[in-house]
Amino acid sequence: MGRIPLSRSRTRHLPPPTGPAPRVVILGAGMSGLCAAIRLRGIGVGDITILERSDGVGGTWRDNHYPGSGCDVPSHLYSYSFAPNPNWTRKFSPQHEILAYFERIADDYDLRPLCRFGVEVTEACFDETDNVWRIETAEHGEFVGDVFIAATGQLNRPFIPDLPGLDRFEGTAFHSARWDHDHDLTGERVGVVGSGASAIQFVPHVARQAAELTLFQRSPNWVAPKPDRAFSPRELMAFRRIPGLAKAYRFSIYARFEMRFNMMMQRSWMRPLLTKMFVKELSKLVSDRTPWAAVIPDYPLGCKRILISDDWYPAILAPTTTIELDPIAEVVPDGIVTTSGTHHRLDTIIFGTGFQTTKFLTPITVTGPEGADLHETWAKGASAHLGMTVSGFPNLFILYGPNTNLGHNSIIFMTERQVDHVVMCVENLWRSGADRIELRSEVMAASDAEIQRRAARTVWVAGCDSWYKDEAGRLTNNWPAHTYEFWRRAAKDPTDDYELVTSRDSVITTS
Ligand code: NAP
Repeated sequence: MGRIPLSRSRTRHLPPPTGPAPRVVILGAGMSGLCAAIRLRGIGVGDITILERSDGVGGTWRDNHYPGSGCDVPSHLYSYSFAPNPNWTRKFSPQHEILAYFERIADDYDLRPLCRFGVEVTEACFDETDNVWRIETAEHGEFVGDVFIAATGQLNRPFIPDLPGLDRFEGTAFHSARWDHDHDLTGERVGVVGSGASAIQFVPHVARQAAELTLFQRSPNWVAPKPDRAFSPRELMAFRRIPGLAKAYRFSIYARFEMRFNMMMQRSWMRPLLTKMFVKELSKLVSDRTPWAAVIPDYPLGCKRILISDDWYPAILAPTTTIELDPIAEVVPDGIVTTSGTHHRLDTIIFGTGFQTTKFLTPITVTGPEGADLHETWAKGASAHLGMTVSGFPNLFILYGPNTNLGHNSIIFMTERQVDHVVMCVENLWRSGADRIELRSEVMAASDAEIQRRAARTVWVAGCDSWYKDEAGRLTNNWPAHTYEFWRRAAKDPTDDYELVTSRDSVITTS
């Protein structure tokens, strides 16, 4: 590691820069924010500030340190293409290895001096006089950038349901993304609310410690075996010594995962076959104690994230585990009562209830020229061109924004393609000497219409609730196409889609 990647620039037709490079403020030191800083430095942008709420880099991999935390995308693909790591110890790395990877990236690319840790951004406002973003923080004053990149992602604000009586619970309660490691679960009666991608990883660990585990499960998941194993010393040596091997392996995973997109379409030929296989295997688990509804989902495969685990079913079928399918009526001082009146006495409640995913950038107020409020612009659902830019909000870029999440491949691949696009836009802004780069309104409208048209063909809008959609059922989180299509679109010369403006009235580049 340590090599600065070259920009995938399509801007060579522009004149060389005359003025100083734009000053860039990046919000978030997670996987996307770090990538943006590395790539922007690669094109000569020197004034970069990364504002980070926590005390270190790594974003979601810093927050989600619950027992069993790890990634369900193989690590050779869940890492930057320009910084391969031949030392991943397993096919699917645990959280501490992934966090260590991003920490090493921050060191190798000397990113820590750019970071301001413990800084909470409250507001970002475009100053029309100076054509800069003014970023206000809770306790650290104002930061100013010509370009503002919001890299907070989709999974950074834990969601805890507003259950009646929760504030009266006398035991311990915490969310999976705020795991209380000082609290010993040994011998306790533990209730887990939720059974999504996080719960599936921590529940087996909790089940081993607790005396009794009650899983409050609203919907079961489609859970496939996890083809995980440690790499052998010989394989590790081969990754280190054989040039191109890690890259070829990475590509083979990417290509295989990309084929899975077919399953995300409503008219997939793969889904009926796979569903049949799943049901055949899962029905073997059904018993008097574990009814059909506890293990076999009633929604189409792929509608929620397909999960992988080898220890989930043993954990939920263990004699000390109770799967509670009745909805929660209320939390009482010593436990949880369901709508059928069953009272589960609990010492600890753990919420594996996910994140507030569809209200992008909240609670930060983002104000563009003429007082435009980003959250009002998104009142009918968040949307952005390629998930990154919003008409009416110049010099603002969002990474891992609306409709950039995936159900079938690595989000780091998407991040790198987004950063390619941001780098091209910033180069255009810089080299043209313009003050603003702004998405054309007709491009925004066409992008949004296309996303929603294509979303209607996916399984994500067919018959289940998930964090991919907002309350109105609009698909706000997922990209409804193959990732190579995103790649092609993000790599396109941006000058067709954006206006470069020197002042409020003077457009200097048009298509
Ligand atoms: P999630 O997938 O949104 O799961 C939340 C769970 O909480 C669901 O089972 C949901 O039930 C349940 N729930 C929500 N509100 C509830 C309520 N009021 N009462 C009862 N149950 C309730 O959240 P997550 O497990 O934290 O995962 C979120 C995302 O994080 C994943 O999809 C994934 O992208 C990412 N993640 C990734 C990995 C990885 O390995 N790459 C690991 C962990 C997380 P319903 O299903 O019925 O809504």
